[in-house]
Amino acid sequence: MEVELVTIGDELLLGFTIDTNAAHLARQLADAGITIRRRATVGDTAGEIVDAVQAALDRTGAVITTGGLGPTSDDLTKPSIARIFGREMFLDEEHVGWMQERWRARFGREMPESNRNQAMLPRGARKLQNNHGSAPGIWLEDERGRWVAMLPGVPREMRGMLADTLLPLVRERAGTGGRVVRSLTLRTTGIAESMLADMIGDRLMNWPSLSLAYLPGIDGVDLRVTIRDAESQVADEQLSTATDALRKAVGAGIYGTESEDMPEIVLALCRSRHETIAVAESCTGGLLGARLTTPAGSSDVFLGGVIAYSNTVKEQQLGASASDIEQHGAVSEPVVRQMAMGVRALMGASIGIGITGIAGPGGGSEEKPVGTVWIGVDFGGVVEARLARLWGNREEVRYRAAQLAMEIVRRRLSA
Ligand code: ATP
Ligand code: MG
Repeated sequence: MEVELVTIGDELLLGFTIDTNAAHLARQLADAGITIRRRATVGDTAGEIVDAVQAALDRTGAVITTGGLGPTSDDLTKPSIARIFGREMFLDEEHVGWMQERWRARFGREMPESNRNQAMLPRGARKLQNNHGSAPGIWLEDERGRWVAMLPGVPREMRGMLADTLLPLVRERAGTGGRVVRSLTLRTTGIAESMLADMIGDRLMNWPSLSLAYLPGIDGVDLRVTIRDAESQVADEQLSTATDALRKAVGAGIYGTESEDMPEIVLALCRSRHETIAVAESCTGGLLGARLTTPAGSSDVFLGGVIAYSNTVKEQQLGASASDIEQHGAVSEPVVRQMAMGVRALMGASIGIGITGIAGPGGGSEEKPVGTVWIGVDFGGVVEARLARLWGNREEVRYRAAQLAMEIVRRRLSA
């Protein structure tokens, strides 16, 4: 079954509100095996709402809208859609009574008059229970079985109503016979998208129900495998065969699945091996420490760090050699090695991490352009140093440097 989405609200068009409703609906419907054919956003204008919903109805005969169900004059969804169906609006006294009760019980006072608007319904509408607010959702259907479901714009109310009432209804309509859409995400970092494509090659070609998406982001490139329109058990089997193939192709480059975060993975690895970490950060200015201490309970692994921004701190706190800094520069292999060794000794950790680089926008040179970062890791006395050329603006270079440092630790510990 195919449906279309129309999200309604000037604030969406103006960019003041990010359209999270559309994303949530898309994911939930996909789980139920329902395909979104198209989605549109319109402002709070009756003409635009009518145009968008009418066109969507003509294409798929199944439309979900969010927004514009409230009591105020900018809430035009109901009358606009009632017009498409040629239905009048009427006051649902029963709903007025329910709302009045709710106001007295919850707020201890009478309901404002303007809320009566929320009980205005198109003739023949079916109410969708709202357990999280006062505006009911509305299901309107014509004699040919074409329907529009109107949900509130407030995300919490929309989500509740979708789960409680609309999804069961749509599932029943769709009669998808248990056909589903299933996805799994594998996370990689530090490997370029094109390189991943080469590694994967044509392994997943010629699977009609499968699609593979490369999703580059600040953490790295996520690989998302999706199986569409398959029976639940078949989808699960295909998904696991496909992800096995990807794991084989990309190997140790995969650090996690779904929304797993690098710090959590590194902390768990260290914990199971009784390793402890100390960090010496120059260009990342504490970002690595911040990320490693974001998960609760990181104190059994993360001991502490030195933000060694100036050369003096690198020399005096970490024992970096003044002559190496003079000769090779602060962003160099000998210095990053000394930072890693220095902080490991200083904190009594089993792993010391050093980061020194040029985050930009200034400070780059021909030999060391912006994005040049040295990362050193001292694993119990064995030091590994790596030169990275990271891309992006200052913030991105810093984030990627911290991510790569954790990746080096992860790869070493899981080898
Ligand atoms: P209300 O009764 O509060 O007026 P409503 O159903 O009329 O609810 P809107 O007025 O369109 O909904 O939106 C209410 C709020 O919900 C908006 O201010 C906005 O913050 C949020 N919202 C609306 N649409 C979306 C959307 N598509 N994605 C995320 N948030 C949204
Ligand atoms: Mg509103």
